[in-house]
This record gives sequence, structure tokens and C-alpha cells, in this order.
Amino acid sequence: MYHHIKKLMYTVRVGTPDPRFGNMLLEQFGGANGELAAAMQYSIQGLNCTDMARKDLLMDIGTEELSHLEIVGTLARMHLKPMKKAREAAEADPLVAIAGGGGVTLCNSMGNPWTADYLKITGELDVDLRSNIAAEARAKIVYERLINFCDDAGSKDALQFLMTREITHMKAFMAALESMGKDPLEVGLIPPTPGVVNKFFNDSTGKGDEGETDARGPWNEADDIEYVEAPAKPIAEGTQFEVLEEIQKATRRGNPRSATTQPRSRRLR
Ligand code: MN
Ligand code: MN
Repeated sequence: MYHHIKKLMYTVRVGTPDPRFGNMLLEQFGGANGELAAAMQYSIQGLNCTDMARKDLLMDIGTEELSHLEIVGTLARMHLKPMKKAREAAEADPLVAIAGGGGVTLCNSMGNPWTADYLKITGELDVDLRSNIAAEARAKIVYERLINFCDDAGSKDALQFLMTREITHMKAFMAALESMGKDPLEVGLIPPTPGVVNKFFNDSTGKGDEGETDARGPWNEADDIEYVEAPAKPIAEGTQFEVLEEIQKATRRGNPRSATTQPRSRRLR
């Protein structure tokens, strides 16, 4: 059950409206990492969740994100409002000005409509929690960029609050995942194939224009990792002619009477 209270979760004050900035704010309203996406992702994951404790967590945070949506929408509306009547302001975003009368719609900053394709819902709680940790990190960095591009003190204040809450959520999702007691690489039930899982393929090779070489690090030089040098290279090194010849040989092998050499009537049957 949802209940609306006629009060914002955080007070929003705007000194001077900035239509261009209002347009940027729409990214957190109807964009891929925005508040509607967060609210829907966590709430729908919550509907699917059979772990009652973590279901409650998903519903708590999913509902808070709806309150964030209300704050961002209110803030964006304050910045976009002059577009309705002022030609100069309208030029900042003709779509919002002409089609929307300076109001917010569920579009991103480029006018692309919000889509459920933004949501990551797998029905596997630990996998969903990982998606949520990543989603919070993305929301955090988008808020940080908005703060950096904002001149208005009141707007900055509200954005700082919203950015901070994303870190709080990130911590909660991390703690929920950790408390499930699963090994970080234990995803699903089927174990990975032993001789394959431990191989690192050095698939990007050669020396780059800036002198870049093949990097080594904990991801490819740990004791249990086998470093495999350029497995695709021998094939790619063949000349164009050699490759063509190989393709022709393979085609003849698989299809002794090539389709194209048969009469048209037979090919169509
Ligand atoms: Mn949020
Ligand atoms: Mn959040």
C-alpha cells in the first residue's frame, strides 16, 4: 500500500532558475540511473523476494527512492518553469518548453522516454543486490556531476542530500549481500568448468601507440590463474587469401553439392 504525504522528504529551495540545469536534472528523473529506475528496480525485486528480511530492505529503499523522485521532480520543475513563457529560456530545451510547457516528463536529459529496459531484475537475490550496489554507485556519480555543474546554493544542498542517501543505500545493500554468507564467486548452483575458469586470455596484444604493453596484475598473475598468450592470434595472422581458401575448403566439406551450383528450381525447394 502506498500513501502520499504532502511534504517533501527534503526541503527544496531554488534562488535563480536555470533552465539548462533543469534539463540536466531530468537525467535523475527519467534517466537510466535516475530515481524512477531505482524505485521500480528495488520495489519489483521486493515483490519477487521470498527472503522476508531482505524483502523489507528492498521495499524500504524502493519507497525512499519514490520520495527522491518527488524531490528531483520538484527541483527540475522549479528550474524549467521559465520555459513556459520566456523564449530565451525555451531555447534551452524546445521539447520541454513546447510539448511540456516547462514541466517535467519521464524522459532523460536528451528527451528519450523512460523505459523498463533500465531495470535489472533477475529473481536471484544475491545477483539483484549486486546490481543494486552498482546502481547506487552510478546514481552517486551522476549526482556528483550535477553538483559540479550547479551554481545555485539551494539546488546544490538538495543534491548533496540525495547523493548522500545513495551511499547509505549502497552500504545497506552491501551489508545485506555480505550477510547472506555466500562466497563472492558463488553465483547460482552449477559450478564453473575447472580447466576453463582459471585461464586468463591475453586477447589484446602488441604495443600501442603510447607504448602500452600487456599489463599484468592480480587479475591475471595470481597463483591459481593460467596466463594464456593470444589464443586467437594464429588464425588472425593468416593472409586474406589463406583465410578465404580455408573458408572455401570448409564450405566444400560441409556441403559437397553447393547450393549455388544447383538449378534455381531445386534451390528453392
Ligand atoms: Mn535515490
Ligand atoms: Mn538509492
